[in-house]
Amino acid sequence: MYGNGKPVIVVGAGPAGLLTSLFIRNREVLILEEHREVGKPKHCAGFTGLDTARRLIKTAGWSVVENSYKVLVFYTPKGRYRLAFKTPMVYRINRPLLEEKLLDRVLRIGHRVVFKTKAKPGSRAGYVKALGGELEGSYVIACDGARSIFRAKYCGTYEKHLVGVQHVYRASGLDDDTIHLIFNSATPDFFQWLAPIDYDLVLVGFATHRYSIHPDKIVEYIARTTRVELTTRIESFGGLIPRTKPMDKPVIHNRVVFIGDSVPITKPYTGGGLMPISILAPVLGSSINSGNLEPYLALYRGLLKRVKAEYIATITAEKVGYWIPPYVVYHIYRLSLLSIQDYDKHYKLLLKALAISPYVLPKILS
Ligand SMILES: Cc1cc2nc3c(=O)[nH]c(=O)nc-3n(C[C@H](O)[C@H](O)[C@H](O)COP(=O)(O)OP(=O)(O)OC[C@H]3O[C@@H](n4cnc5c(N)ncnc54)[C@H](O)[C@@H]3O)c2cc1C
Repeated sequence: MYGNGKPVIVVGAGPAGLLTSLFIRNREVLILEEHREVGKPKHCAGFTGLDTARRLIKTAGWSVVENSYKVLVFYTPKGRYRLAFKTPMVYRINRPLLEEKLLDRVLRIGHRVVFKTKAKPGSRAGYVKALGGELEGSYVIACDGARSIFRAKYCGTYEKHLVGVQHVYRASGLDDDTIHLIFNSATPDFFQWLAPIDYDLVLVGFATHRYSIHPDKIVEYIARTTRVELTTRIESFGGLIPRTKPMDKPVIHNRVVFIGDSVPITKPYTGGGLMPISILAPVLGSSINSGNLEPYLALYRGLLKRVKAEYIATITAEKVGYWIPPYVVYHIYRLSLLSIQDYDKHYKLLLKALAISPYVLPKILS
């Protein structure tokens, strides 16, 4: 035991829990995970931009990058738009492998992971009900994902979730460096995607909070639109994408700290959670090491400002047309104002969209 003799209790061995634990070095860490292994059940598509991929590679190694995409094709009610880059704009992280690699490193530095253990908030902040009793932590880090019972206890439940569904298919007719993003009324509050994993394997997915047509019909539509022939379905998985405002302050009574989908701090338009986790986890780890959470709070506040602006833009897009942002992005690209780094920096896209609004608004309205 270190510090005050109480371990740091991390609830959840997803990317937020594992990555944060990796940066806690001078305290005992106890990670409680309700499933029997990491990376299960699968739910994430694993798409990130360059900077996030780099940060993850730095901690988990190159093998976690399964594919990368230099070409993005948007299908919108206005038409089909192709954006091509010299170097990849989007990377696909193999999520189960990422978690395995992180777990391996976490165990090597001596932290303890207990599987098949569901933790619940204890009677007071800093306490957790698990392993047949109530455990006290010097800190409790709530990394329990989109259905966080810790957030429910301290902040109330979420207002809204989208349900994401994904399938892996064998396929033919694939361009393995092209990712397809489809915007239509089948999923009016999100988009559909088709992304090659390999030369003959493809990930097909979509999300919405109300499925008004059968999910298999959406798959048929995606295949028809992208002209990719889907043959055998190999596996299906999915999960909840939070669509609600992040917490203003991710720390309760200086003892319970939130990170990841429990906050939820994600890129609101795409639901991408790996980017904020990869930025916040190292600083949360070092803040825990020093016993001073202020550096974590300061970084969080900075990120929150951007995420809130993106959240407002996302909610607006949901109302007026989810296809409008990619249509605007296409025009940013045509004007040579799009950088490959913008994939992870949607707030920059917002600023660029504002700058070109006199040019693009008449086109949207026409
Ligand atoms: C369909 C879909 C597609 C997505 N695609 C992308 C994408 O392309 N790019 C991207 O960046 N993000 C994507 N995301 C989001 C991304 O998956 C999340 O942001 C990320 O997984 C959040 O990590 P986390 O560690 O906070 O939560 P999780 O990954 O959900 O991990 C939480 C962990 O806590 C455990 N747990 C939960 N409750 C308890 C408890 N009470 N006690 C003990 N253990 C518990 C769970 O078993 C799990 O292991 C997607 C999400 C979905 C649903």
